[in-house]
Amino acid sequence: MILTEKKIKFERISNKQKPFIISGPCSAETSEQVIRTCVELSKTNVVDLLRAGVWKPRTKPDTFEGVGEEALKWLKEASKITKIPVAVEVANSKHVELALKYQIDVLWIGARTTVNPFSVQEIADSLKGVNVPVMVKNPINPDIELWIGAIERIIRAGIKNIAAIHRGFSSYEKTLYRNKPYWEIPIELRRRYPNIMLICDPSHISGSRDLLQSISQKAMDLNFDGLMIESHINPDIAWSDSKQQVTPIDFKKIIDNLILRKDKSTNNEFNNTLDVLREKIDNIDLEILDLIEARMKIVEEIGKYKKDNNITIFQPERWRQIINSRTEIGIKKNLSEKFIKEVFEVIHKESIKKQYKIMNYI
Ligand code: PEP
Ligand code: MN
Repeated sequence: MILTEKKIKFERISNKQKPFIISGPCSAETSEQVIRTCVELSKTNVVDLLRAGVWKPRTKPDTFEGVGEEALKWLKEASKITKIPVAVEVANSKHVELALKYQIDVLWIGARTTVNPFSVQEIADSLKGVNVPVMVKNPINPDIELWIGAIERIIRAGIKNIAAIHRGFSSYEKTLYRNKPYWEIPIELRRRYPNIMLICDPSHISGSRDLLQSISQKAMDLNFDGLMIESHINPDIAWSDSKQQVTPIDFKKIIDNLILRKDKSTNNEFNNTLDVLREKIDNIDLEILDLIEARMKIVEEIGKYKKDNNITIFQPERWRQIINSRTEIGIKKNLSEKFIKEVFEVIHKESIKKQYKIMNYI
């Protein structure tokens, strides 16, 4: 196996001037489409890494499943012309072998592969002893452990240069998004792996062009390190993901319109004011904890009382009243109904758990 030259270094940069930008078509379709798209993208001067899928995981058969090996040559050619490294998606060891044979600079594991530990392990095994950067997309289901598990498998294969890509999650309910972002999941990944570069893929989250700008901005405001945005020379006739791809010109507009904020300030006055406000938050949090503690004590008392009188824990009528009255009050306090519902649902769940323990001597 030929070792690829390390050109891309995935690392977190504090107060970056510019996010790390990945762009390119969803799929490599023809040599001309790949070269023209990549050349136009390189003219924007913002792209750090080119992308294109050559093996496409498609939901249904009889759809375009990628050109395969032949397209790797087009990508290398595009990289040679633009002097920008290229990335492809790999889903098995055969893909890894071919991508390395053509000296593709970066590999990524797609959402449909991250879900399957057998596939991820197969890829990890074929990467042993290879010095190639790898990006791991989140699994299609909102399971952070599965995402972390895939990253761990790649780390254990000896790969040091790793980035995580957040591309949203499947859900049965129809939402505004093609894949629901569940921002709390990448935020938790960042908490647990503070040094892993985190890239947002607004194309697969949105599924449509009109949401790309706002999702990209949200990712920047949440301190993501970079963006992966699909771009096609003629998106309307793209063979896959047509609705979410943008022309290189529109892609550049999205990047130019981003408001980049620093993650830290050196201004003393700002930092002092922030400290004062944070202290207020700390004190309020303590009060909240004291109140929750007091509430739970009463919950336990009620649990004992219900037990002595042989009464069930869950009282649907009481629960209905709680939710209705709390959301009504919450709305008047400018708190969203959804938020208040969620807060009281977790409190109620914990209360039931406590009473269950009391009733069953656990
Ligand atoms: C892609 O990046 O084109 C792709 C197939 O994405 P995902 O794995 O996120 O569905
Ligand atoms: Mn795509």
